[in-house]
Order: sequence, then C-alpha cells, then structure tokens
Amino acid sequence: MPTDQKVMLVTGGSRGIGRAVVELAIEQNYRLCINYAQAKREAESLLELAGKSGVEAIAVKADVSEKNQTDELFKKIDSRFGKLDVLVNNAGIVANASRLDAIDDDRLQKILGINISGAVYCAAAAVRRMSTASGGRGGSIVNVSSIAAQLGGPNEYIDYAMTKGALDSMTTGLAKEVASEGIRVNAVRPGLIYTDIHASGGAPDRVDKLAHLVPMQRGGTAREVAYAILWLASDEASYVTGSFLNVSGGR
Ligand code: NAP
Repeated sequence: MPTDQKVMLVTGGSRGIGRAVVELAIEQNYRLCINYAQAKREAESLLELAGKSGVEAIAVKADVSEKNQTDELFKKIDSRFGKLDVLVNNAGIVANASRLDAIDDDRLQKILGINISGAVYCAAAAVRRMSTASGGRGGSIVNVSSIAAQLGGPNEYIDYAMTKGALDSMTTGLAKEVASEGIRVNAVRPGLIYTDIHASGGAPDRVDKLAHLVPMQRGGTAREVAYAILWLASDEASYVTGSFLNVSGGR
C-alpha cells in the first residue's frame, strides 16, 4: 500500500450521506476510518466493499458526543494509519417536528451533544494531528451543515437548524484559525436529500412532500452531496477554505 494514500475519517459513515462519502472515497482510493454509532452491519458491508476494491479501511463504533469515545476513535486511527488527512464531520441527527416552545431538555441536550459537541471534539482532534505547527502534514476538514442553518427550521426543528448554524460559525472561525497551519476547513449545506434521517425524525416522506419548495423541483441524492464533499476535501480545492457549498437544488 503506497504511504502517500490519503486517510479519511467519516463520522456517521454507515448510512445516508456519510455512506455515500465512504463509497466515493473508496472509488478515489482513500484509506478510510468509517465511524458509526449503532449500524454495525452497514459499516461492515462497507468494509467488504473496501476490501473488494483493495482499499484499507476500519470501522469504529463511537458516539461522537462522548468525548472519551471520540478520543478512542482517533487513537484507533493513530495506531492503524499513523496519520489523518481528511475529516468529514458528518454525524448528525434530527428529532420529530416540533415548535421551539415544545422542545424538552433531553432532546435539546442530545442534539447539541451530537451535532455540535461531537463535531467540535472531532475537529479539535483532527487539528491536533494535521497542524503543521505541531508536526502534522496539513489536511482538510469538511463539515456537513444544512441549508436549515439559513432557513431556520420553523415549525419543524429550530434546534436542529441552530446546531447547523453553530457548525457554520465553527467552519468560518476554524478556517481562519488554522489556515496558516496547512489545514483547510469548509462546509457543505445539503438541502432535501433522500436518506433515512427524515424517517428518524418521524417524516419518511418529507423529501417528496417538500420537493415543490425546491427550485429544481426534486430532492437530492446522497451521492450528489458526496461529490461536493470529496471535491472540497481534495487538492483540487487547494485555495478554498472557510467556504460553504450549498447542495440544495437552489433552495
Ligand atoms: P442518516 O441517514 O440518518 O445517517 C446518520 C449517520 O450518522 C449514521 O451513519 C449514524 O450512525 C450516524 N450517527 C448518528 N448519531 C451518531 C453519533 N452519536 N455518533 C456517531 N455517529 C452517529 O442521516 P443523513 O441524512 O445521512 O445525515 C448526515 C448528515 O447530513 C447529518 O449531519 C445531517 O444533519 C446532514 N444533512 C442531511 C440532510 C438530508 O436531507 N438528509 C440535509 C441537510 C443536512 P448509525 O448508522 O450507526 O446510527
């Protein structure tokens, strides 16, 4: 295995957009750490795919909202690959549609923990490994935000939208903080994408029901988001940092 092959960590890589990122990264010959929370079988199926393609990959169970589990996740990357080139901060959840004044504290703490704290833990651990100021070789971080950060999620999930707004602020600040240390930090903002996240928020038909609100009049695929993420992660985007790529059909 050539040592210049890049190593990518995809959080929440087992299903949906993260899975599409892993599949495309396998095609592009990355070495991979596929993080998941529950979906062991789905993660293992990606290991099989990687194996068939001659790509080195590991699957690591870790709840990104638990700092000790995130620390262990990065230690596994250290021991297996000895470096990290790309972090795709993708793990995220929504809850059932609700007005803000009906959101209970358990729900609020859970979504803040996964969507914000988890992304910060992972970005911080990645920066410590990538920064040229601490002996690293530079790298790229792509945060998976949402067009909801701009729309605000009224009557559905303001809590979710605000976590993505926080991710956007982190993207802007961290991009500036580490730009001179060889690390680029960017974000994609997907719109309505066909994944199971909508069913997990109690609305399996959400994409088709809301497609008429999209200028392109359709939902997007996880693969369409993955192309944008892989481009931002790549050397083709070498002068791009602190940028946001809306993958939302014009919404
Ligand atoms: P999904 O199909 O529900 O997949 C979510 C992924 O995140 C799964 O791999 C899941 O792991 C993982 N995950 C959940 N909680 C986790 C935790 N605590 N620790 C580690 N991994 C965890 O969702 P998706 O639609 O692909 O969403 C991926 C990202 O895109 C999210 O950040 C979401 O906010 C964002 N996004 C999605 C859309 C959309 O329309 N789909 C639009 C805008 C933004 P398990 O499989 O193990 O449960």
